Amino acid sequence: MSQNPQSSGVSGEYYLRGQIARELATAVGTDHVSTDSSDLQAQASDWSWMSKYFQYKDLPQPSADFVVRPRTTEEVERVVEIASDYKVPITPRGGGSGTQGGTFAPYGGIALDLARMTDIIEIDEESLVATVQTGIDGPKLEEELNKKGLTLAHYPGSYHLGATIGGFIAARGSGVVSTKYGKAEDQVLQLEVVVAPGKTVKTLPVPSHAAGSDLLQTFVGSEGTLGVITEASMRVDPLPETRSFLSFSFPNIFAGIEAGRQIMANRLRPSVIRLYDEADSLKLKDWVGTSFTGTLMVVVCDGDQELVDYEVKAITALVEKSEGTSLGPDLGEVWWDGKYEPYARGKLPQPPLLYGTFDTVARFSAIPKIYRARKELIETEFAEYGARYTAHLSHWYDWGAMIYDRFYVDEAPSDPAEALALHDRLWDAGVLTAINNGGTVNDHHGVGVKLGRFMRPQYGHGFELMRSLKKAWDPDGIMNPGKLGFGPPTNSRW
Ligand SMILES: Cc1cc2nc3c(=O)[nH]c(=O)nc-3n(C[C@H](O)[C@H](O)[C@H](O)COP(=O)(O)OP(=O)(O)OC[C@H]3O[C@@H](n4cnc5c(N)ncnc54)[C@H](O)[C@@H]3O)c2cc1C
Repeated sequence: MSQNPQSSGVSGEYYLRGQIARELATAVGTDHVSTDSSDLQAQASDWSWMSKYFQYKDLPQPSADFVVRPRTTEEVERVVEIASDYKVPITPRGGGSGTQGGTFAPYGGIALDLARMTDIIEIDEESLVATVQTGIDGPKLEEELNKKGLTLAHYPGSYHLGATIGGFIAARGSGVVSTKYGKAEDQVLQLEVVVAPGKTVKTLPVPSHAAGSDLLQTFVGSEGTLGVITEASMRVDPLPETRSFLSFSFPNIFAGIEAGRQIMANRLRPSVIRLYDEADSLKLKDWVGTSFTGTLMVVVCDGDQELVDYEVKAITALVEKSEGTSLGPDLGEVWWDGKYEPYARGKLPQPPLLYGTFDTVARFSAIPKIYRARKELIETEFAEYGARYTAHLSHWYDWGAMIYDRFYVDEAPSDPAEALALHDRLWDAGVLTAINNGGTVNDHHGVGVKLGRFMRPQYGHGFELMRSLKKAWDPDGIMNPGKLGFGPPTNSRW
């Protein structure tokens, strides 16, 4: 759409743009609507490699035409109503800490910044439930909960990068203590969502019921493509009385995977199990200061003293039976204290380095195959680029685990088209290897624009059902178009 009345004459489009801006300003207040280009770029940006690369190369990111900052659910309703009237896309933004280009606005429209929606509505100490507006970030909510002896127990690596409760839920997030406390989808109990054409729906007060299929979980993970999540009730937990740390070495990663499987199959519940391969243990040493390199497992047990003592004993016995050697508590403690350090010390990878994190989840029976296949693929098929591979497993379930493995190419090709193509080829290779070996697109980073093309191979005909649902709930396709593989808006003239 043309921005300049001089270059296009005061066209119908220019007038329409002004009209939309005026309606949006009436909805949320003039101060909370912006068309400033740096504001639009900032709203589009996230922590995806693509976003960092566009910024590094001084290239524009796919951005919206308006930034709108509502304060209340009623204001969000009005904004969605306006967007529906004019068939203008809406891209919600929480903290912009996502890694999949979820805040890119490839079809323009409205960037809906939820940063003003930060109220804590209620902390129900009897039921252990906190109800909040979804623009609140993790640390702010955690601080209030801690005052009452409670915790959200959701600490992602992006904890200090502004990640919000809405983002946790919208992209199925996971924190470092998820093995005991669950992912965002396990912690969320009730949602309030504004859907097209500007109506608010509330799911049931509890997640467990027999009143038909699960509306709550249909919105969880929908990344803004079905509606804007404005309010969430989250399960909270008592702050643990104590925390104990363990660490073990193994002759190889497969022995470590088996030890982790034993812990989970025996239904023990440490809050953390992190198993690093040799290459990743080197990175950990550099980033956090752990002194050991090799195959390393860090375990954290928390809760009351009696429970922790029991788990420490039981886990140590199981791991030592599975070729693990105890290294004492120190490495675990160093890891726990330093877990956000790389972010604080600016050690995160950035262009011209080319990098990507697959976070595949699979059953135990598939995990070793995926690790072997992906490591070999990255190190051999991309050997001409000097591609490197590192892996750790950090979220464990009764039935399987997540592999957080990364590729690195030290210097991306200088031509942007070539760099982006190499990036996508690495992703194609890695994700299809997972899917073909019984794994999934990913575990907790969401899909965004980056991984949308894998939804069809992942789900087969199931993806057509998802598309039908999307079409029925959002007939004009204005809710975060281009994400989750759903493509452009259908009837938009934008
Ligand atoms: C260094 C680093 C470490 C990370 N570590 C982890 C980790 O340990 N665990 C983990 O799960 N993730 C991790 N992430 C990824 C990211 O932080 C999470 O996905 C986080 O939950 C995103 O929250 P956000 O508020 O920043 O969302 P955003 O980036 O703002 O948005 C993500 C997606 O959700 C949509 N969205 C956001 N809010 C809403 C809403 N209220 N309603 C509807 N749609 C919405 C957006 O449109 C977008 O599609 C990491 C990222 C980085 C950069």
